[in-house]
Amino acid sequence: MEQSFIMIKPDGVQRGLVGEVICRFEKKGFHLKGLKLMNVERNFAEKHYEELNTKPFFEKLIEYIISGPVVAMIWEGKNVVTTGRKIIGATNPSESAPGTIRGDFAVEMGRNVIHGSDSVQSAKKEIALWFPDGPVNWQSSISHWVYE
Ligand code: UDP
Repeated sequence: MEQSFIMIKPDGVQRGLVGEVICRFEKKGFHLKGLKLMNVERNFAEKHYEELNTKPFFEKLIEYIISGPVVAMIWEGKNVVTTGRKIIGATNPSESAPGTIRGDFAVEMGRNVIHGSDSVQSAKKEIALWFPDGPVNWQSSISHWVYE
């Protein structure tokens, strides 16, 4: 089953949006397979965003991610990577649709509350980085009420 790496960024934690974010993924029918609240070291943040390290906003992005604790999660379900990105909304909150997390709770790109893997391949890489021990192994006992 497909998995995605989802992270509530420091602004989301500070603003008390942890429950709201978890609620949206949970109610959709996805299953939580990993969860931790943690402060991120600069080197680790740089590794997570290494593909963006030539971008002009890179330094500000790293400062943002290390500015307070984040909530790192693994969510599992059919098409969770693509659907997760839809739940999250466009990178720029000015363009994210109402009803999405960024559309409902964010104004600026540098305070856009949440990260979600953009492909199955990057999800695998990000989960390996953030959860070296892998996901928690459990199966929902009501999966047949979500999956036909
Ligand atoms: N970002 C930014 N300015 C930009 C583009 C991106 O501050 O012009 C930040 C923003 O927080 C975004 C993150 O960098 O979420 C990673 O950028 P990416 O293009 O990977 O967007 P995402 O996958 O998070 O939607």
